[in-house]
Amino acid sequence: MQNKINLNGIGMTSRRTRERLLGRLMDQGIQSMEVLDVIRSTPRHIFLDEALSHRAYEDVALPIGFNQTISQPYVVAKMTEALLRSGPLEKVLEIGTGCGYQTAVIAQLAKSVYTIERIRPLMERAKKNLKLLGLRNIDFMHGDGSGGWEKYGPYDAILTTAAPQQIPGNLLMQLADGGRLIIPVGGDARQELQLITREGGEFHTTILEAVRFVPLLVGSLQH
Ligand code: SAH
Repeated sequence: MQNKINLNGIGMTSRRTRERLLGRLMDQGIQSMEVLDVIRSTPRHIFLDEALSHRAYEDVALPIGFNQTISQPYVVAKMTEALLRSGPLEKVLEIGTGCGYQTAVIAQLAKSVYTIERIRPLMERAKKNLKLLGLRNIDFMHGDGSGGWEKYGPYDAILTTAAPQQIPGNLLMQLADGGRLIIPVGGDARQELQLITREGGEFHTTILEAVRFVPLLVGSLQH
């Protein structure tokens, strides 16, 4: 499934800069052509402040204000590839919208995406960015995502882009049978990226690699 983004009116940086990023992702082991194609066609520069947009196609996390970051393209690719590889992506829940970059990537590969962000101005920015790209299969919620979003569950996939110390039980409970949760788990300095698969009442964990995300915080902020 591919929901194409609409690039009319979006300034594009040089093809060479973007191809260099794609090469880097492949060098680091990303294999899914679907994921690589979507990263290629997603303009990451629109998610950044103008002062940083010249660095948009570097494979690094960058600040987006409010002490938060836009995820590193490699990590976005890795998480998306792991979810895509392990089953269908009809209904996806994302915790930690930020400025919406990961949301844009997954929304091009899933039927519907539900995304939750605790900092209201970031959620508003993400809404604007995703509208600009013409992606319409996304529902937004402002609030604390650690409880999940029961109304639309169960989900085929849940991805969390902020790290809790321990996996919130509600997220596990909102997985469909065969559903997958991908989540960084652990303290400040370093976490492990875990992929958890639900089979009936059982949960199987695979540890993917070491990662560094901002912490999953409790409660929500208006500004
Ligand atoms: N997905 C983003 C990365 C955002 S960084 C991207 O693709 O670039 C992680 C985000 O998680 C931050 O915006 C932070 O505010 C948010 N966050 C942290 N704890 C949260 C919680 N409990 N509920 C919802 N969002 C949360």
